[in-house]
Amino acid sequence: MSGVLRFSRASLPVTPWKNGGGTTQEVASWPQGAGLDSFGWRVSIATIAAAGPFSVFAGADRSITLLEGDGVRLFTHDGRIDHRLDTAQRPFAFSGDEAIDCTLLGGASNDFNVMTRRGQWRAEVRVLDGASAIDAAPHGVLLALRGAWRLNDEACGEGEGLQWADAAQAWQVMPDSADARLLAVRILPASPANATTGTTMKPVNEFPSADGLWTGIRLASDANAEGAIVVEQGAIRWAGARSALPAEFAGLAPHDGGGALVTPGLVDCHTHLVYGGQRANEFAMRLAGATYEEVAKAGGGIVSSVRATREADEDALFAQAAPRLEQLLADGVCAIEIKSGYGLSLEHERKQLHVARRLGEAYGVTVRTTFLGAHALPPEYAGRSGDYIDLVCNEMLPALAAEGLVDAVDVFCERIAFSLAETEQVFKAAKALGLPVKLHAEQLSDMGGAALAARYGALSCDHIEHLSAEGIEAMRRSGTVAVLLPGAYYTLRDTHLPPVDALRAAGVPMAASTDHNPGTSPALSLLLMVNMACTLFRLTVPEALDGVTVHAARALGLQDSHGAIAPGMRANFVLWNVRDAAELAYWFGQQPVRTVVRQGRIAIGANA
Ligand SMILES: [Zn+2]
Repeated sequence: MSGVLRFSRASLPVTPWKNGGGTTQEVASWPQGAGLDSFGWRVSIATIAAAGPFSVFAGADRSITLLEGDGVRLFTHDGRIDHRLDTAQRPFAFSGDEAIDCTLLGGASNDFNVMTRRGQWRAEVRVLDGASAIDAAPHGVLLALRGAWRLNDEACGEGEGLQWADAAQAWQVMPDSADARLLAVRILPASPANATTGTTMKPVNEFPSADGLWTGIRLASDANAEGAIVVEQGAIRWAGARSALPAEFAGLAPHDGGGALVTPGLVDCHTHLVYGGQRANEFAMRLAGATYEEVAKAGGGIVSSVRATREADEDALFAQAAPRLEQLLADGVCAIEIKSGYGLSLEHERKQLHVARRLGEAYGVTVRTTFLGAHALPPEYAGRSGDYIDLVCNEMLPALAAEGLVDAVDVFCERIAFSLAETEQVFKAAKALGLPVKLHAEQLSDMGGAALAARYGALSCDHIEHLSAEGIEAMRRSGTVAVLLPGAYYTLRDTHLPPVDALRAAGVPMAASTDHNPGTSPALSLLLMVNMACTLFRLTVPEALDGVTVHAARALGLQDSHGAIAPGMRANFVLWNVRDAAELAYWFGQQPVRTVVRQGRIAIGANA
């Protein structure tokens, strides 16, 4: 079998299950004619008519999508998986290794199933409701769930579909009737984690150790004298002028910095790095004159990121976030905050936070996870903000905290998001669990969020373009960091500057960050934010550099281990090919990194 074959649901042969609990219609499998123990991938439609355990398919990854019927509850008896498959056309991914039991939520259900042999194939399952380009894949299935479609200009009616195998196919798909839905499965060769993410990644434990004596460097704090740093077991043992180096360290393994300027490793303290899809199309539409309503009607806005994040499985989210992380790391980032907030349900927020943790492990970078369940109201809670905040506080946060996935809790407090009272409800839930809080505050208006956050001892208040004098005073008293996000200010073409002079006068520490997110700040360079913090917000060079090191570390509660080059800190520092620290703020678009020492290892650059 190769090339494209058409099928219709009505004409697929029906095979009853041995246990009598249902029937299966096979759509396609690979290699052709492979049985249940030898398939590489398999796509089928099943009718589940009775409760009972699913067959275990060890070594397979599975995705199930409810097509019609009341749905089923899928669960493991140890409670790790408990999913109500009751929303039609929303794929759910799980491992075939799991002993899944199933009960009916009503009558019989029809479900669309994809199985791929782990290590050989992986599947991307999406439900489309508008014109889309589907990237080329060597194998795949398209099925018109509802309405009529044109698939590369061929008509396809409801209940009809096509499949292809062993022949790369890309598609332009277009609904041909109102309210149409298309299920799209791309099946791709599984690639090892290292290969999916570009060229720079290698296993962390292959990075050479940075232990020893670093000389031929100039510390940014004293750039006119030759400096020296002693690294021992991945931590900074000593740092200062080389002329003051204690004799006991003189014989350690040498690393020569070639005259480079050295700063602490950078800390990106506010990102939404893990999400599905991206929104370049929406950006282009708006430039071409589309209104926000038109963009929203075409499925754009934050809901499109929520949908794409929910549809992507963990591996797909990892593969999409990894190259973005690599870009940030290439700028000397050694610690990064990653927020959830595009899943907006327990299952999908968990998935985002898992991916954030995995990125930290894979790249040997410090990742702080922040639960931002209160980022936006999910579409299924429209008009029921209070119910959603109850879910965030009573179910999502306690469960995710219990799983060790939450380092801090954040809320988007704004007229277009959540109220002050809702914000306080989330803060109370966080405090009850002993978790620190932070806040998206006063970005578009002065809601009084910063003062509230300060009362809860917030690590940081972020955005703060409309921060009031009272808010500044409250932050000063509580030691809360002001996180400036020039990338969002720039993208939104905002003109209301954050009150930098007043923050400076009050002595509130200021940090700067990318706010990397697909809607308002698709920024992939923290150094560019240093430039923008100076150019747009008039920070001085030392303020901007402190803003991406020592103060950014404080905004994450990492001030005892990150953001400075001092005895006892983790060895995180960057050697730059510049004469002057001012050059780090002055150039933009430059890539001045010479060497990055991250978590005690030489992660980028020569083994100097
Ligand atoms: Zn943000």
